[in-house]
Amino acid sequence: MTASYARDVTNDHPSIVVVGGGIIGLTTAFRLARRGHAVTIFDPAPARGATYAAAGMIAPTAEIAPGEESNYRFQRGAIDAWRDMNREINETIGRTVSIAQTGTLIVGWDASDRRLIEQFQSVATEFGAPMRAVTRAQEPDLFDGLSARIGEGLLMHEDGWLDPDEAVARLLEANERLGVVVVRERVVSATVSDGAVVVEADSGATRADYGIIATGADGLPGGLTVPKAPTVRPVRGVTVRVQSLDRSELPTVRAYVRGRAFYMVSRPGGYCVLGATAEEKPQPLVEVGELQRLLRDGLDIVPELESAPLLEIRNGLRPATTDLRPFFVPLAEPRWWWSSGHYRHGVTVAPLAALDALAAIGAS
Ligand SMILES: Cc1cc2nc3c(=O)[nH]c(=O)nc-3n(C[C@H](O)[C@H](O)[C@H](O)COP(=O)(O)OP(=O)(O)OC[C@H]3O[C@@H](n4cnc5c(N)ncnc54)[C@H](O)[C@@H]3O)c2cc1C
Repeated sequence: MTASYARDVTNDHPSIVVVGGGIIGLTTAFRLARRGHAVTIFDPAPARGATYAAAGMIAPTAEIAPGEESNYRFQRGAIDAWRDMNREINETIGRTVSIAQTGTLIVGWDASDRRLIEQFQSVATEFGAPMRAVTRAQEPDLFDGLSARIGEGLLMHEDGWLDPDEAVARLLEANERLGVVVVRERVVSATVSDGAVVVEADSGATRADYGIIATGADGLPGGLTVPKAPTVRPVRGVTVRVQSLDRSELPTVRAYVRGRAFYMVSRPGGYCVLGATAEEKPQPLVEVGELQRLLRDGLDIVPELESAPLLEIRNGLRPATTDLRPFFVPLAEPRWWWSSGHYRHGVTVAPLAALDALAAIGAS
């Protein structure tokens, strides 16, 4: 079959194929198209992978974990990076993604959970993360809606959140305005031929000057190899959407409950995202047991969830590497790069991941 060529190839602005239209592929395409590249995204179901399940927390401090200092340093610039990209989105379509910087409140359910918070605090202190201890007695509003047995917590004021559904809608609109073509097909193989990249999908072959793989936990399509392999494994997560209390002006609630992690991100009007499970399983489904544990933990921390209408349950596969760090690497086949491994932080770091693509293409 004859290969079609992605449009408008010039020496100044080579054409680019992006395989995968999750938050990483969409921000990557946006930044490349803003620079003047002709970009084509291939994805059978754009933004219906992990991005669809994400709660949208931009929470570098609350996400601190032992051994992940480099992740913390990388993510600390994420809210500013989103604001920078918002300026570009605004220039493109006259609208932006709402970004709330309400902070995170971490609380514990029982004595051993409070011990986990102490351990978290000592790691976060080592990383130099800003936070302060708070009590219900002194700042009752912070604890609005939380179980009466919770009287203290840790407040991390730099953290924030956005709504991934809104971010995706804005990016799709902005990309369309910039002429990015979205082909709703799965790429079955990706190769290099005669100084161009070639992708094979249902409708045939498409050529472009360069290609970027952003397929999340799905890994590489056939035909591509990595010289020194980062491996990506799927870590399944479930989020539950309910109509409940409006804490959108207050910190996002995170809790340890019987050793498990729980969070509730509250948006204006009381649309709340409860999350999230973490299962080392590749099947994109929801198990009754994981859902039951998530809801039980939520009910303990936020008792009024008892009567909250359940709106939706979503699941997705987080792309995790062995060292839990994201990567942007050239593949063994020239002209191809792979952007993945964003694990539980892909929404947070998406504008930064897109900068890697700009730098790589700019240097080629
Ligand atoms: C339950 C849950 C909660 C989360 N909460 C947060 C959060 O609060 N904050 C945060 O920062 N991160 C969060 N994350 C992590 C974040 O969602 C991911 O890191 C991020 O979505 C990864 O983006 P991606 O674009 O790499 O992958 P995806 O969103 O999975 O997108 C990959 C896309 O590639 C497409 N694709 C795959 N193979 C092919 C192919 N061969 N051809 C064409 N297209 C293909 C898929 O259809 C998909 O649309 C959460 C994740 C989960 C699961």
